[in-house]
Amino acid sequence: MRLLPLVAAIAVGLASAGAAFADDAPAPAHIAVRAAHLVDVQAGKVRDNPLVIIEGEHITEVRYDGQVPAGYNVIDLGSATLLPGLIDCHVHLTGDPNEVKGDYYEAVLKRSSIDSAILSPTYAKRTLDAGFTTVRNLGADDYVDIALRNAINRGDIPGPRMLVSGPPLGATGGHADGTTGFSPWIQFHDINGVADGVDAIRHRVRENVKNGVDVIKFMASAGVLSAEASVGAPQYSQEEMNAVVDEAHRWGKKVAAHAHGAEAIKMAIRAGVDSVEHSSLIDDEGLKLAKQHGTYLDFDVYNDDYILSEYAKKGFPASTVEKEKTVGRLQRENFQRAVKAGEKMAFGTDAGVYPHGWNARQFAVMTKWGMTPMQAIQAATVNAADLLGMTGKVGAVAPGYYADLVAVSGDPLGDVTQLEHVAFVMKGGDVEKNDTRR
Ligand SMILES: [Zn+2]
Repeated sequence: MRLLPLVAAIAVGLASAGAAFADDAPAPAHIAVRAAHLVDVQAGKVRDNPLVIIEGEHITEVRYDGQVPAGYNVIDLGSATLLPGLIDCHVHLTGDPNEVKGDYYEAVLKRSSIDSAILSPTYAKRTLDAGFTTVRNLGADDYVDIALRNAINRGDIPGPRMLVSGPPLGATGGHADGTTGFSPWIQFHDINGVADGVDAIRHRVRENVKNGVDVIKFMASAGVLSAEASVGAPQYSQEEMNAVVDEAHRWGKKVAAHAHGAEAIKMAIRAGVDSVEHSSLIDDEGLKLAKQHGTYLDFDVYNDDYILSEYAKKGFPASTVEKEKTVGRLQRENFQRAVKAGEKMAFGTDAGVYPHGWNARQFAVMTKWGMTPMQAIQAATVNAADLLGMTGKVGAVAPGYYADLVAVSGDPLGDVTQLEHVAFVMKGGDVEKNDTRR
C-alpha cells in the first residue's frame, strides 16, 4: 500500500472517533477484545487482563480495568495471550518452493507471471492466517506484487498489508537476471529489474516508482538461488549502489539491499541503504558501519534448514544446495554476533524460499542463536514497523494503531514456538481467523 493514503486513512480514523457520520455511511464496528495477557512490545513486558477497544479499523484504547464501554461487542479470547499482528520484512508472495515438483527447469521454463498471479492470493491468505498482518514483498516479476497488494487493499481478497518492491534492480548476469546460465538465445519477455550503469539504474528506479512500488530493492551481491558461481561477490559498483539509493530516496522510497558477502554489505551500507537483506557474511567492520549508519540488518536464519532438507528432493539445481551450505551456518553465527553487538535488527525470512505460512518458524532459530524471545518478537513488530516507516500504524497494540492483533494459547515468551500456532488473527478490526471458539 502507498504510504500517503495510509497516513490519510489514519487521520480520518482518528478524526472520526467522536464525530458524527454521514447518514449513508455504515457506523464503524465497536469491538472490545479481551484476553488474559498482552505482550507489550513497546515496553518490553507482559501485561495482564488487557481489553483492547476498537472502533472501525483502529485501536482507540487499551485498558486493564476490565470495564467494557457501553455499545461494544466483546470478543473474549479467555486465557490466550495477545500480541500485535506480526510483520515479515522479506517475503515473496508470488512464488513457493512447492511449485517445483521434482523438475526445476519445468517450473522455470513453462510458467509465467500469470501462473504466479493465480497462485499468489493463496500464499497471501496462508501468511495472514499465520499471524503476519503486514509484509514487505522484496521482489516479483512483472509487477504481480502490485496487483496483489491493490486487490488486498480494495478488499477483493484477504491478505496481509503489503509494501512491495516490484522487480529488484540488478546487474546483467547477476542475481536479478533470470536468464543467467541459460543459452544466450533464451529470452524471457518479462519486466525485470536488470539495469547497468548509473543512468539505466536511475531510469529503472523511476519506472518502479511510476508503477507504484513502495520500496526499492536491489541486488548488491550474488545470491544462493541463482546461477552465478559466487554467493557473495558484489554485483554493482559503489557508484551504481549510490545511484540506486540517491534516486530512491529522492522519490521518498526506502531501499533494501540483497547482500550476502562482506564487501557487498559494506558497500550497500556506505551507499545509505535502509536495510541489508540476508547479511550472511557480515564482518566486524560491516557491523560497525551498520551501527554508525543506523542500517537495519535482516538475517533470514530459518530457511537454511528447509533448503538443505528439501531442495535436492524437489529437483532444485545441486549448485543451489551447495551454495547454501557455504553460507547457512556462517549466517547464523554472524546473526549471533550482530545480536551481541546491539545492531538494529528486523524480522525477515525470505518466505517463498520455504513454504508460505511457516514464517514464525524463524523465531525458534533467532532465540537459539542469541535473541531473547522478547527481542525476537520486537524484531517482528516494533522494529519491523520502524524499518517499514509504519511506526504509529502497525507493530504495537496502542491507541491510533490499526487493530491488527494475533493471539496464542500458550506463553510465547516461555516458548516462542507458540507463535507457529496462532489461534486468532484480526486485521484492521476484521476477524480473519478464530480457532479459539469451540
Ligand atoms: Zn528474497
